[in-house]
Amino acid sequence: RSAPDTSSPLTPMMAQYLTLKAQARDCLLFYRMGDFFELFFDDAKAAAATLDIALTSRGEHDGAPIPMCGVPVHSAEGYLARLIKAGHRVAIAEQTETPAQAKARGGKTLVARDIVRYVTAGTLTEETLLDSRRDNMLVALAQVGGDSEIGIAAADISTGRFETMTCRTADLHAELARLRPSETVVAEGSSLDLPNMHMFDRAAFSSTRAEAALKRLFAVATLDGFGQFGRAELAAMGGLIAYLDHAGKGTLPFLAPPLRQTSGGHVAIDAATRESLEIVATTSGARAGSLLGAVDRTVTGAGARLLGQYLSAPLMDLDRIEARLGLVQLFHDDAGLRDQLRAALRALPDIGRALGRVAVGRGSPRDLGQLRDGLGEARLLRERLGHLPDPPLLLARLLPALDGHGALVDALSRALVPAPPTETASGGYIADGYDPALDELRRMAGDGRRAIAALEAKYREQTGIATLKIRHNGVLGYHVEVPARAADALMVPTSGFTHRQTLAGVVRFNSVDLHEEAGRVAQAGAHALVAEAAHLEELIAAVLTRKADIARAGQALARLDVAAALAERAAEDGWQRPHLIADDGSNPCLSINGGRHPVVEDALRREGQAFVANDCCLVADDRLWLVTGPNMGGKSTFLRQNALIVILAQAGAYVPAQSATLTLVDRLFSRVGASDNLAKGRSTFMVEMVETAAILAQATTRSFVILDEVGRGTSTYDGLALAWAVVEAVHEVNRCRCLFATHYHELTRLAESLSALSLHHVRAREWKGDLVLLHELSDGPADRSYGLAVARLAGLPAPVLKRAKDVLARLEAGKAKTGGIAAGLDDLPLFAAAAAQEEAAPDPVRAAIAAIDADALSPREALDHIYRLKQLA
Ligand code: ADP
Repeated sequence: RSAPDTSSPLTPMMAQYLTLKAQARDCLLFYRMGDFFELFFDDAKAAAATLDIALTSRGEHDGAPIPMCGVPVHSAEGYLARLIKAGHRVAIAEQTETPAQAKARGGKTLVARDIVRYVTAGTLTEETLLDSRRDNMLVALAQVGGDSEIGIAAADISTGRFETMTCRTADLHAELARLRPSETVVAEGSSLDLPNMHMFDRAAFSSTRAEAALKRLFAVATLDGFGQFGRAELAAMGGLIAYLDHAGKGTLPFLAPPLRQTSGGHVAIDAATRESLEIVATTSGARAGSLLGAVDRTVTGAGARLLGQYLSAPLMDLDRIEARLGLVQLFHDDAGLRDQLRAALRALPDIGRALGRVAVGRGSPRDLGQLRDGLGEARLLRERLGHLPDPPLLLARLLPALDGHGALVDALSRALVPAPPTETASGGYIADGYDPALDELRRMAGDGRRAIAALEAKYREQTGIATLKIRHNGVLGYHVEVPARAADALMVPTSGFTHRQTLAGVVRFNSVDLHEEAGRVAQAGAHALVAEAAHLEELIAAVLTRKADIARAGQALARLDVAAALAERAAEDGWQRPHLIADDGSNPCLSINGGRHPVVEDALRREGQAFVANDCCLVADDRLWLVTGPNMGGKSTFLRQNALIVILAQAGAYVPAQSATLTLVDRLFSRVGASDNLAKGRSTFMVEMVETAAILAQATTRSFVILDEVGRGTSTYDGLALAWAVVEAVHEVNRCRCLFATHYHELTRLAESLSALSLHHVRAREWKGDLVLLHELSDGPADRSYGLAVARLAGLPAPVLKRAKDVLARLEAGKAKTGGIAAGLDDLPLFAAAAAQEEAAPDPVRAAIAAIDADALSPREALDHIYRLKQLA
């Protein structure tokens, strides 16, 4: 944004504006003027374009009109939301004194203004600006020392969720794909390049400063109680806290103690796999159509957010998974209990986010009302769930968090009216009977208003003007109003009325009695407002002393919601509890009977079609399934459903299958052939190969890999050759559980050389010339590819089909003669032998080193050897 030239004389307002704008830097400056936020210069142009509002101008600067636009303060939130969504950041400059105060301060009458807050995508707390069912993560990244490790600190300040971890640079994208940050902050000068990234003061990313800040924030003498943090993590937390401090202009939001994630704590799922499996969002970014969309039956925003976290980070710890499953089973087996719980939760306000607003000083009476209702309901749930005969472990651990809020709930209940307003300006949120002094003030104001009503009657009688009214407005306050034609009688000095204003049809007066009563009403009203505000402050302070406990209660309620929702989902479609086995990698298995794809099944159901369930059984000596069959036959669906079942199982959910047994999966990979995501616009074959390389480098014997049409993005020969080599490598080197779908029929020959590979196909039949896709998995290779039949199904014109048939006949005749494209592969040495040969190839440097007799060397000869070796290398 070009900074306006400041060389010419400025109006005082422009000078103030430009000073604030210099502080706001790359943020749009919302400059408060009365009832509007005004934007100037380039800010005005950008905002007017994004918001589609009128761009006007005000005054001149350097001989040119200053572009300007404005939004009303009372509807600013909606405009803010749109600006933030469009990727802008906004600085809010408020008037920090009244015009009267400004006047009293001295000659100049320009009111002081200051930036009170920065609004950015990652620092929102407003209900209207946030998606209630999605976390809003702010992430700070720090690199210390070399560049190989990155510290990540992530917080959702609208709820206080705060976590941290250290990861290798290579895994950064996977972690960010899990966290889905709305905004990422890095130190100025960082070489990282990420979406929604913001550079911030380098000095803030210091581990020593961070330690001090964290100790202050959590009022502890040592951080040991939270875990052992690495320097990079600390630096990232330091950057995060300093950035929040800057954005809130010194008001820090509520943060729960940082939860340290270890890199092996959850299933490693890289960004490409997340995208291809559409775990929490489809490739186009929508929630509907994703796994989360198909599973989510939560009834609270907090539950929906937590379920997203569960599915984004399936666990590696068997005990934690079983604990979650135990709670799901409780609600699965007891439908009555589940219904009760869900009904109670459905009425529950979002206490996590209400607390978030209160903590940053933007809490309204309504937020306190939500905390009262939410915590009150928590207490009832505690009682209801506390009497179960044989409670699962997790329930016993969660229930105490619902306890202990009684005193606060009682205080809030006594203090607040049943439905407190968001606005405080006109008061009325503190309940009658809470504070006798306030009651008295209200009584006085009420008496005054009644006295004024009595005055009206009295004046009508006294003057004989039946249409006389006592009115109230912001400028005159209380006044007497009569029609113009009746006004003469009151204009005489002896009438007791003083003239205030003559309008077209009416004339307005004041009177001594009215003035006195009005003064009493106004004073009592103002005092009442002050008293209410003081109570609000006390209540907020009371809430804040218990913020950690309130956050824990919110978290416990969210976990109950998720468990009950997963139980509900399971009950709808007969999903089953998975059987999980810890494993050291020696004996992995993945055995799923009657597995289904929840998203595809939902889609088919809407069209009145049934989903065909399929089995998958990968074990140590049959761990790689090669799946062939016609296009549209259901290969991808089968591959993905098994990956999704793994995710659900390790997230602690029931799974869409008749039964599922698996040893824990440490890493999950999904690769889809190039042409399936052409929309990306990069060289898709290149991307496919990069991703495949990542799998070959990272998959372990405990991993699960699905590969769909690898090699499709290049020529037939290249593609087949690559697919062949990849299957061999996965089988021989990675030895992971793997489903490999391909249309290269030639790959089925691999079954002869690879002992743990078996052949499967999706069934199809031609019936009366029509292709019938059965979507049913069967053993052995597909008998043929049905490509032309699929093309016919797709409506390819008959002449083209006829021509294709002729070409195919020629090709097949040629294939019969020459043995086809894989003819030369018969005497190919085994992958292991070839790899061993590669390894055994003599390395001249090694050979030379081996030939040196170290004991017999003079220093001079040793130096000669080093020169020689350097030449060889
Ligand atoms: P392929 O990968 O073999 O080309 P897909 O897995 O993409 O085939 O499946 C194509 C379509 O077939 C899906 O969109 C779905 O409508 C249907 N389908 C796939 N699997 C099944 C199944 N098990 N039961 C019913 N319909 C299925």
